[in-house]
Amino acid sequence: MLLHGRCHCGNIAYTLNWEPSPSEIPARACSCSFCTKHGGVWTACPEGRLRLSIKDPGQVSRYSFGTRTAEFHVCARCGVVPAATSDIEGRLYAVVNVNTLEDLDPALLRRAAADFEGESEEARLARRVRNWIGQVEFDEGSG
Ligand SMILES: [Zn+2]
Repeated sequence: MLLHGRCHCGNIAYTLNWEPSPSEIPARACSCSFCTKHGGVWTACPEGRLRLSIKDPGQVSRYSFGTRTAEFHVCARCGVVPAATSDIEGRLYAVVNVNTLEDLDPALLRRAAADFEGESEEARLARRVRNWIGQVEFDEGSG
């Protein structure tokens, strides 16, 4: 299944190739302080391929906090956060914000809360390697 998403203004767009096609898409409302404030709900498929297309990289704010092991890609023009990435031992992993998916059948979403409070940094990175999208490409200045 090829999923498409973008921020509100379209500066950050992405395609996520999710094979085999999922019967349901996990949607995890993250309880960290940043996601609580912007309502971030994330999904990922470890075997997926994500291509992020940035029209104007100068209009993307890369925000990180806490352990600084993840970067949130915030559109500086419209304020939407379509994706977060984590660089783990030289490889980039990602999750996408289900609120930014376009033309998705909402019946596919399986919503759950996620609370990673108190998780060690080591456990956190190991979890991302297992669960996050393992193939991530950036296409910058594509507009
Ligand atoms: Zn935008």
